[in-house]
Order: sequence, then structure tokens, then C-alpha cells
Amino acid sequence: MLREKLIEFVAYEVVKAKSFVTAITGEGINEQKIRDTLNKALNNYPREIDTLEGFTENPNKAWKYYNIILQMLADSEPTDAHRALAELESLGILNSIITITVSGLHQMAGNKNVLEVHGNINTLKCVSCGRVESVKFPLDQHKMPPKCRHCSSILKPGYLLYNEQLPSKEMTDAIIDVTVSKIMCIIGFRRVVEPIPSLILRAKQCKAIIIEINPEKTWITSKFSDYFIDGDINEVLTKIVKSVGRIIKNTESYIV
Ligand SMILES: [Zn+2]
Repeated sequence: MLREKLIEFVAYEVVKAKSFVTAITGEGINEQKIRDTLNKALNNYPREIDTLEGFTENPNKAWKYYNIILQMLADSEPTDAHRALAELESLGILNSIITITVSGLHQMAGNKNVLEVHGNINTLKCVSCGRVESVKFPLDQHKMPPKCRHCSSILKPGYLLYNEQLPSKEMTDAIIDVTVSKIMCIIGFRRVVEPIPSLILRAKQCKAIIIEINPEKTWITSKFSDYFIDGDINEVLTKIVKSVGRIIKNTESYIV
């Protein structure tokens, strides 16, 4: 199918599946300049501090890096792709977004139902009592590491570190949403990172149509995707949502 025809076809399918559409988003949805800056910073990043064990062994060293990197992420802005998904929710089509991104940009763009299965950088979490509090970066370097106001233990970043458990409430909600989905849109993924393969597998078992939108084919394409749309994620999503809006409008005028 020609690409433009495929975009139009997907828009029709999405309208048909009204309110049973789930999107799963990865880092590819974020601004390219943020991804480039972050990748550069991560090259100088000691890997051990990104594990829960490494963090608790040396929180001062870990926070020295976190403070710089999380500031970069906190400065990022929603893209056209974020805005397109917000519009799809406001049209009553998109049920929820399940995301491994951690910058809170879906909410900033206007989405209400966002399940952040890898946490959120705009929060800090106590390693002892689990209390979560909101935060603005950069943190004061003279007051490192940050401490819990409730129990005085050390606070970790609100995103998931390696070897840390996936958040149970978000995962329960994500599994429910995936189970009832008629369409699952997979957007901006390259890496194989849990819980994404498990959620895609579940959607497939529950007979959802899998639509993948990525610049290049991925590990998902041959294994799971029913339809693959290549190209710039911002452009593709904007076109789909524009078509969805037009289809809804035409349908309404036909009914009247
Ligand atoms: Zn605490």
C-alpha cells in the first residue's frame, strides 16, 4: 500500500476503534536535539550509578551526574507528535498512552491518561519509605544528596533505575488498557526494553491491530506489526490526526 494511502487507511481504522486505541511511546517521540545531547552526556556517564545498587552505594556521585542530565531533560519541549496524540485524546479516540519516556511531555502537551511505566523525572522518590515528591531541576549542589522530609532517607530520581521493579499500579492499568485495545499504536521505539515486548505480545494475543510508526524497521516490525509506517514520527502522526479529524467531521455531517 502506498504510504499516503496507508496513513489514510490507518486513520479510518483508528476512528472505527474509537476509544479502544492505546499508544505506546518510546524515546523516539522526543526532540532530536534532546536525544543527541543526552546521548553525548551518557557517553561520559559511569554505568554503575544507573542501577539501584550503584545508586544506594554512592548517592553523592550518582547525584552529581543526575543533576546535570535531568536538567537537560527537564528543559525539553513537547513535539508535534506529542501534540498530535493530545488531539487524538481530545477527539475521544485515544484511550491512553503507555510510555517509557520520563520527561512528562505527554501531560505537558495535554494528554490526561498517561501511564509512565518507567517513572517521571519531575519527581523524587525516597529509597526507604517510598514517598514521592515533585522537584525542579537543577537541585542545590550544596545539599546533596536530597533527603526525604518524612524519614530523612536519601531520595532517588523518580525514573526507574536498572534492577528496580516496574511500578505496580501503572503496570496493572497498562495491562487492562492493552487487553481491551482494538488498536495499539507503537511509536518511536528502537531498543528492546521491558515491559514493552510483554505488552505488545499481550495486545497481539488479544487480537489488537498493531500499527508501528518508526523512522526505520525495528525488532517489532516482522514479529508483531500488522502495519508499519516509516518516516518522520511528527509528520506521520500529524497527518493521521488531521485525517481522523476530517473523517469524524464528515461522518457527523452525514448523520445530521
Ligand atoms: Zn522517606
